[in-house]
Amino acid sequence: MPSRQRMTMRAYSGIMATMGRKPQTMTPVVFWSRVKRGQAHECWPYMPERPGYTYGHFKQNGRQTLAHRYAYEITNGAILPGAVLHHTCENPRCVNPGHLSMTTHTRHRRHHADQITHCPQGHEYSPENTRYKTDGSRECRTCNRARNNTPQARAAQRRWQSSARGRALHRERQRRYVARKKGGPE
Ligand SMILES: [Zn+2]
Ligand SMILES: [Zn+2]
Ligand SMILES: [Zn+2]
Repeated sequence: MPSRQRMTMRAYSGIMATMGRKPQTMTPVVFWSRVKRGQAHECWPYMPERPGYTYGHFKQNGRQTLAHRYAYEITNGAILPGAVLHHTCENPRCVNPGHLSMTTHTRHRRHHADQITHCPQGHEYSPENTRYKTDGSRECRTCNRARNNTPQARAAQRRWQSSARGRALHRERQRRYVARKKGGPE
């Protein structure tokens, strides 16, 4: 085991020891005893902290469980398969079920991405300058163009296109592109 992992585990068991025996199966009573519950509009942080982790979580039957997902499920019922929970309060440690809304992975990523209006290089994510990928993440078209336009990138592209594998892949991509345009099966 790498030493970093060993250290994390030691830190973790230290924290757990101060909290008494850890239950194998979490119960709502134990769970809420670890939460600083306030009024409905307030954030309710899950108290046990594990350094380096953004979200509150605990181990249950050997599996890591996210505290806010557990809080949502014991309050509202099961989270739909593949669904994610968004913190409307933007506070990851908060487990107040009223601050959690169920959404899809793609919409969630898009929501958070939309709060960032410029790429790391400072180009605006305007509709013309943004390329949405199927997973909901974005790419800056200006940066993409710049990346593909250096002498090195162009040389690499030429080398790739002139290789047998590159040519075959290029033909295959073209075939799929034409098939998509026709609306037929790929
Ligand atoms: Zn909150
Ligand atoms: Zn979110
Ligand atoms: Zn950019």
